[in-house]
Amino acid sequence: MDFQSLGLIDPLLRAVSEQGYDRPSPIQAQAIPSVLEGGDVMAAAQTGTGKTAGFTLPLLQRLQPGKPAGSRQVRALVLTPTRELAAQVGESVVEYGKYLPALRCAVVFGGVNINPQINRLRGGVDVLVATPGRLLDLYQQKAMSFDQLEILVLDEADRMLDMGFIHDIRKVLRLLPKQRQTLMFSATFSNEIRTLAKTLVRNPKEIDV
Ligand code: AMP
Repeated sequence: MDFQSLGLIDPLLRAVSEQGYDRPSPIQAQAIPSVLEGGDVMAAAQTGTGKTAGFTLPLLQRLQPGKPAGSRQVRALVLTPTRELAAQVGESVVEYGKYLPALRCAVVFGGVNINPQINRLRGGVDVLVATPGRLLDLYQQKAMSFDQLEILVLDEADRMLDMGFIHDIRKVLRLLPKQRQTLMFSATFSNEIRTLAKTLVRNPKEIDV
C-alpha cells in the first residue's frame, strides 16, 4: 500500500513524500479513500496514529478545485479541543497544502487578542482551525459566515466532551449548513460520543484501527 494508490493528487503526494512518509498508516489507508468519496466518516483513532494527515490530506483534495472562499466565508472548519492541537493541525494544513494553489488557512483560539483573527478571516479562508469558544466569539462579532461551508471536522471529539464543550459544539452545529461532509475523530466511541454523532454525521463510514 502506498499513498499513490489512495487516490491523492500530485501536489499532495509531493508534500507527503517531502515529509518522508513511506506508506500510509492504517488510519490513513482507511480514512483517505473514504473522505475522498465525499461521505461522512467516524473514526476511532488515538493521537500518534497519523490521524491528522488522515483527514487533512483528503480534505485539501476535496477543496480542489473550487470557488475561492468569498468575503468572511469558510469552506472547511476543523474544531479542536485545545489551542495546541489547533496550532498543530494548522501547521499540517499548511505543510500538506504547500503545493496547492492559493490555499488560505487560519487558526483561531482563545486567550489571545481577537482583532488579528478578525482581520485574518475578512478575505475568507479555505480552512479554519478553531477551538469552539473562540469560534463562537468570532461569529458573534460577525467575523465569519458559513454559507459556503463544505466540510466539518471534529478532532478529538471525546476530549472536547471531557472538557465541557458540548454546548459550544451544539451551538456551532446550528450555524452550519446541513448539506456538508462531516468527519468525526475520537480516541474512543463512548455512548456520549455516539449520541453526539447522531446529530452530526449521516450514514458514516465507521473506521476503527
Ligand atoms: P498524529 O497522529 O496525526 O498526531 O501524527 C503523529 C505523527 O506521525 C506526526 O508527527 C506525523 O508527522 C507522523 N506521521 C503521520 N503520518 C505518517 C506516515 N504515514 N508515516 C510516518 N509518519 C507519519
